Amino acid sequence: MLVQNSLTRRLEEFAPMENGEVRMYTCGPTVYNYAHIGNFRAYAFEDILRRVIEFNGWKVRQVMNLTDVDDKTIRGANAAGVALADYTKTYKDAFFADLKTLNIESAEVYPAATDHIPEMIALVAKLVEKGVAYKSDDGSVYFSVRKFPGYGKLAHIDFDNQRTGARCLGDEYDKENVGDFALWKAWEESDGPVGWDSPWGRGRPGWHIECSAMSMKYLGETFDLHTGGIDNLFPHHENEIAQAEAATGKPFVKTWMHCAHLKVNGEKMSKSLGNFFTLRDLLEKGWSGREIRYVLINAHYRAGLNFAFTALEDARKSLARIDACVEKATDGEAPAWALKHLDDFTAAVNDDLNIPRAFAALFELVREANSKGAEGTLGVFQHMDKVLGLIFFGKGGKEEIPAEIQALLDQRAEARKAKNWAESDRLRDAIAAAGWLVKDSKSGQIASRI
Ligand code: AMP
Ligand code: ZN
Repeated sequence: MLVQNSLTRRLEEFAPMENGEVRMYTCGPTVYNYAHIGNFRAYAFEDILRRVIEFNGWKVRQVMNLTDVDDKTIRGANAAGVALADYTKTYKDAFFADLKTLNIESAEVYPAATDHIPEMIALVAKLVEKGVAYKSDDGSVYFSVRKFPGYGKLAHIDFDNQRTGARCLGDEYDKENVGDFALWKAWEESDGPVGWDSPWGRGRPGWHIECSAMSMKYLGETFDLHTGGIDNLFPHHENEIAQAEAATGKPFVKTWMHCAHLKVNGEKMSKSLGNFFTLRDLLEKGWSGREIRYVLINAHYRAGLNFAFTALEDARKSLARIDACVEKATDGEAPAWALKHLDDFTAAVNDDLNIPRAFAALFELVREANSKGAEGTLGVFQHMDKVLGLIFFGKGGKEEIPAEIQALLDQRAEARKAKNWAESDRLRDAIAAAGWLVKDSKSGQIASRI
């Protein structure tokens, strides 16, 4: 299995360091809003990566964090006048429902930042002790980038051409303005009730420290693989390396992988530009999780992907073509020509996750099965689907509505009868958070799996 390592900028042979198990950390969502499909491009890439590792016979221990305290979550909770934990719970639940919709395999651990404040404080204390971090006059603690000789090795920063020295309290900054970054932020008026006591006074962690603290807690001081979208590479991942390696003196991560952005009209899809679709937006327009997954994975992860509705239309047609063939496929011994396509498929996924080439092998299989007969090809489709996760997923087969969903539907029907629209909407969200979409029609509510 070959992968492109962002740290060395080379294609490298990949294998777990220990016991056939890959320890993998993926930066997860900031739960202040619904994730958009740009975010899900990153999570879909990580899902493919995880599945390809499993396809190669290794086990995966994946940790994905939930950022449930930062500037955005605090602002959202305080503006809504609710406790931070209540505010973020809505979006955590929605996130897990969305992962199901897209058939993204679950990570083994989803640690939330607010559950790991002591671990973060301990790590910051260690950095202060080692002299690479200091408390400033404003009561915040900063990492001194000049004290860590390896700073810049991931982003390949050339310090001689930098205006360095400034301090950054915000979590984001660019390569041209490298400065000491905040590990612990002193409490401010705008934080309202959010804050924890620490050796440096009341405050809250910076964003970067959570990933170093939680990854090392669950995966060890040195682990195999760390991933994210390309925008995470700097400063977030650079800072994670600095924090971890300055504290332990050991290499933090062997392989770093980053996916390119999902774009809209050539620009990164992002909340701040306002050019985004959430998964729910697309479901409401009648697209399925299966179709959206198809679009998100059918581009090389390091290539830009422009979002367009025509791509969803193409996905629908391609899936129909696959479905028609798979319906005819039977068990039994696979013909040699089918196995040849499986070999091509395997070579493609092991060549730095070349999913477009893997799809080409799948369509060669479909084409040949259509002309020669699909007897004995079922196992080949099933094998390919271990990586793709969409041939047999969400094909609209009727699934029984579970009792707890039915109870929510009944309550919602009551609320609608009483014209209590707020309650009706709240119940719709609760049903969606549990993975079901409800549509109102003349003949009542129609529920289907998202
Ligand atoms: P955030 O919630 O902004 O921290 O982002 C969560 C994940 O989504 C990170 O891995 C980001 O790099 C990734 N991400 C954000 N926007 C995009 C995009 N337009 N395309 C691909 N990945 C993205
Ligand atoms: Zn992270």
